[in-house]
Amino acid sequence: MLFPTADAQVKLLEETDCGIISFSEKVKESGNIPLSATTINVLQINTGYRCNLLCRHCHVGAGPDRREMMTRQTMQQCLDVLGESSINTIDITGGAPEMNPEFRWFIERIRERLPDATILVRSNLTLLTAHEKYRDIPEFLKQQRVTLIASLPCYTKDAVDSVRGKGVFDRSIAALKLLNNLGYGKEETGLELNLVYNPGGPSLPEEQHQLERRYRKQLFEEHGIVFNHLYTITNMPISRFLNDLLENGQYCQYMTLLAKSYNPLAVNNLMCRTTLSVRWDGALYDCDFNQMLNLPLDKRAPQHISSFNKEMLRNRLITVGQHCYGCTAGAGSSCQGTLV
Ligand code: SF4
Ligand code: SF4
Repeated sequence: MLFPTADAQVKLLEETDCGIISFSEKVKESGNIPLSATTINVLQINTGYRCNLLCRHCHVGAGPDRREMMTRQTMQQCLDVLGESSINTIDITGGAPEMNPEFRWFIERIRERLPDATILVRSNLTLLTAHEKYRDIPEFLKQQRVTLIASLPCYTKDAVDSVRGKGVFDRSIAALKLLNNLGYGKEETGLELNLVYNPGGPSLPEEQHQLERRYRKQLFEEHGIVFNHLYTITNMPISRFLNDLLENGQYCQYMTLLAKSYNPLAVNNLMCRTTLSVRWDGALYDCDFNQMLNLPLDKRAPQHISSFNKEMLRNRLITVGQHCYGCTAGAGSSCQGTLV
């Protein structure tokens, strides 16, 4: 596997000539320059890159051997920010966030500090039933009124197992049934369970509502599973998916597809305009994708959670690159699904 470093990925993205104009030029053409943040409503906290899976499309390059892990001290710095800002959505991601030893402590402290906030946890589902050490997590998430964002790249076993590994589909279905039994995914409980789809290869996702209807029908008819919403996310041409594209000689073909599908309407709603991303060590980024490419924030803004200053961060210029075409293609894409 090639697995280029963040710097090598940025170089490749910026210097490979696929006959596409730069993303910043494209945005300028559509009148959105300079691309800047408008506020910070969401703090997306990446608690570490360790994961029990090794998915082929992973934009994090996460896996069981990754050692990067947020400490309690850095979590405390995040909590300090939550106390003094009006951020009302905290989006916990990874890797597999459940694998951070401080996971429960962190969620409890967030809930204590912000009783009415929306706390999102992104889970690959498979840890929730497979290991004794994680078995209490579903009940814990329910008690803390956490909204679950669960990745399930298809409703068929073959498709999921080919992207995520053998046996992952069955373990995911078992976890979804367990969550449903706890009340997750049922309108009347207020316990939201949202699923995430991303394509298995270099294509754009199908229309979100249409695919949601099919997921709903298939998962209910085949397994009796219910959920609230489906988010479709475009594969970003970075990390492991970039490797896949390079190894299969599909890099320019995919970049051309993304660029040709540029939708100027998506630009206003780009998640980087309202979200701030925190790396496991507290470094700040415009989004989880820029974090993986180590693309720094606007130099005039604070660079670490310990020096958070909302006034200085809320209007920062966004650092963009060719990978940003992944967020503006078709109906647009973000961690909360489509943008238009
Ligand atoms: S895509 Fe998600 S579940 Fe898969 S390796 Fe990456 S972080 Fe883990
Ligand atoms: S990749 Fe990040 S910085 Fe680029 S458009 Fe998407 S959210 Fe914004």
